[in-house]
Parts: sequence; structure tokens; C-alpha cells
Amino acid sequence: MDLKQYVTIVPDWPKQGIVFKDITTLMDNGEAYKFATDEIVKYAKEKEIDLVVGPEARGFIIGCPVAYALGVGFAPVRKPGKLPRETIQVEYGLEYGKDALTIHKDAIKPGQRVLITDDLLATGGTIEATIKLVEELGGVVAGIAFLIELSYLEGRKKLDGYDILTLMEY
Ligand code: IMP
Repeated sequence: MDLKQYVTIVPDWPKQGIVFKDITTLMDNGEAYKFATDEIVKYAKEKEIDLVVGPEARGFIIGCPVAYALGVGFAPVRKPGKLPRETIQVEYGLEYGKDALTIHKDAIKPGQRVLITDDLLATGGTIEATIKLVEELGGVVAGIAFLIELSYLEGRKKLDGYDILTLMEY
């Protein structure tokens, strides 16, 4: 299936000069969403995944159906102040300024093989921070899966040495 036909390109959103890849038109098509999920599930089975971890909010949309299909758990990575119990936190650089991501301290058992999911790899900052959280808790990042990679932003360079699946490349 050619998944790109289900991605809507939105010029100048959220600001002038950004060409946004809108995946909502892939998600709201049952066949396309299932196809994309099944591709990631196939990949995850090869990697013998114990747990799926994804950053809010679109990492949940990709990761939760994969976790369900595998019969494993899903642990959310969220912005500070959203998770109710003890968390660990990692700060990461944005184009302008800083942001941070958190995960519950007991979300991962040491040695668990983790699949990280998100909708899109841009500069790689979000996933680099997510990797740090997983590894700080003793998880093993066995694979990272995205729907889309914006290869011209070279996010892969930040993820050197990790196993990456991307279903579409721009
Ligand atoms: P990065 O940290 O620069 O790799 O940015 C990736 C994050 O930004 C992901 O969590 C995406 O959801 C979001 N993102 C950046 N550009 C786009 C886009 O064109 N479409 C959808 N999400 C995007």
C-alpha cells in the first residue's frame, strides 16, 4: 500500500515556511491505519519487544495499537506535570528554547526490550530525549518506529547505532 497518498501536506502550518505532514487523514482511514500498524507489529515481533514507549501525543496513536497487537504494555512519555506519580525527566533543545519530557520511574523494568514509537522523525530531539528516559530506567531500546522520516533534517544522525524503521520518507 502506498501510505503517502493518505498523508496531507499542509503548507505554512503551524507557521510560515513549515510544510506540515498531517497524518490524521491516514489514521481516519481504517485500511491505511491498520496497514501501517501491521507493518510496525511485524518489525516489533522480530525485535522481541517487551514494552512499547511513545511520546505524547502522536506517539500514543502509533504505539498503542502496536502494543495491543503484540499483547505487551504501553508506557507514556509526557510533558512535565502530566504524570501523577514519581517521574524522571530529561530536557532537550528545541529550535528556540528548551522543553522536557518525563516518564514514571517504575514504567520500565531493567532489561526490558523497548520499542519506541512516534509519528514523525524531524530533528530527532524528541526521540533522543525518549531514548535517554528509557535507558536511564535500564530499558534496552530494541527498535524505534516512525510513520514518517523527514530525511533532509538528518534526525537519524542523533539516533546513530539504534535500529530504526520508517514507513515513509520525505
Ligand atoms: P523532532 O523532535 O524535531 O524530531 O520532532 C518530532 C516531533 O515533532 C514529533 O513528535 C512530531 O509529532 C512533531 N512534528 C514535527 N514536524 C511534524 C510534521 O510535519 N507533522 C507531524 N508532526 C510533526
